[in-house]
Amino acid sequence: MNFQNTLAYARQLDKEDPLATYRAKFHIPKDANGQDWLYFTGNSLGLQPKATQKYIQQELDDWANFGVEGHFEAKNPWMPYHELLTESMAKIVGAKPLEVVVMNTLTTNLHLLMVSFYQPTKKKYKIVIESDAFPSDRYAVQSQLQFHGFDPADGLIEWKPRDGEVLLNIEDLETIVSEQGDEIALLLIGGVNYYTGQYLDLKKIAAIGQAKDCMVGIDLAHGAGNVSPELHDSGVDFAAWCSYKYLNAGPGSLGGLFVHEKHAYKKDLPRFSGWWNHNKETRFNMRQPFDVMPGAEGWQLSNPPILSMAAIKASLDMFEEVGMEALRNKSEKLTGYFEFLINEMNSDDIKIITPTNPKERGCQLSIQVKNADKSLHQKLTQNNIITDWREPDVIRCAPVPLYNRFEDIYKMVTVLQSLL
Ligand SMILES: *Cc1c(COP(=O)(O)O)cnc(C)c1O
Repeated sequence: MNFQNTLAYARQLDKEDPLATYRAKFHIPKDANGQDWLYFTGNSLGLQPKATQKYIQQELDDWANFGVEGHFEAKNPWMPYHELLTESMAKIVGAKPLEVVVMNTLTTNLHLLMVSFYQPTKKKYKIVIESDAFPSDRYAVQSQLQFHGFDPADGLIEWKPRDGEVLLNIEDLETIVSEQGDEIALLLIGGVNYYTGQYLDLKKIAAIGQAKDCMVGIDLAHGAGNVSPELHDSGVDFAAWCSYKYLNAGPGSLGGLFVHEKHAYKKDLPRFSGWWNHNKETRFNMRQPFDVMPGAEGWQLSNPPILSMAAIKASLDMFEEVGMEALRNKSEKLTGYFEFLINEMNSDDIKIITPTNPKERGCQLSIQVKNADKSLHQKLTQNNIITDWREPDVIRCAPVPLYNRFEDIYKMVTVLQSLL
């Protein structure tokens, strides 16, 4: 792209943007004077679609009007409500509907998946994570090791960037697994790293792990709705993600879970159970012996919170309409323009640590600012620019293709430059 460093050009890109109309479908937070915030933290909490209220109201009305009969009589009957989400969610992550279910929250789902896919033996028990894994994932695998009687100091292997580098090198994972694979039971890796924004090659990770009989799980919290991970084709064994970041489904909303088709019919996999992973046909007979459902639905435990699912449906209907391809097209251009403007600053103090190859990142850029401290982030906030600060010196910034404009980026970089 031959980008230009002018506000007029940024506005021209907005004019030509086929997804430009979607911004108006979101509530954009404003300051006291009614000025829109420049919101770059959709990687933390996505903005609220205006339609969400209507979707939730529908369920409140049906609850008011039908009480318990809403399970069958509601406009969207609650009994099979989660099925309304499956197909759209599967498309977003590149999976078959059989492989996906919406349930629980992310860390809970990681644990339930590890109940099935982390089956350590005395000899093969170690878990590999990336050294900059999101803390919740690290705590989850540490507690799994301890639960099975292992010491995390010995059982947890970290895949680290090389000295002096920030990004992970897939060859180093290959080395870890080829050297220690006989002792490794599981690789649990963030598909898109929350800190650097690096998007890893899931297919390669799956091949590396499976060559040594290790299970491979992916945390897609920063991938779902942001990149096109093609989970089925990647061959990873399982994955989990949340819906409140790029999927705009509201604070603490339910997460997504993927179990590859190759495991869909293994009824004897160890797992935790409840009435919701029991055969739908006989669930309400209540006295049947347990009969697990095939596919990802076979990991459900409880009847799910419909109000959260309504918010997810509001968002997924929009994703369905837009499609991941159009979304990615805009996203690459938007983030490409952001990168261009940062590079135009020509400052030795500023370094983008996110990969430059669009295939190795989503929308987020992580910008390292030399000699900066948190006051820089506070000054950005005072200028209505909402970003995320990570100690010691990184600003994480996610221009989201559904509601961020090229103009937002231009203004953000202009302010950043004036502050330095
Ligand atoms: C956001 C995020 C979480 C949060 O987990 P919850 O269980 O939803 O609170 C966990 N892991 C990663 C990688 C994340 O980005």
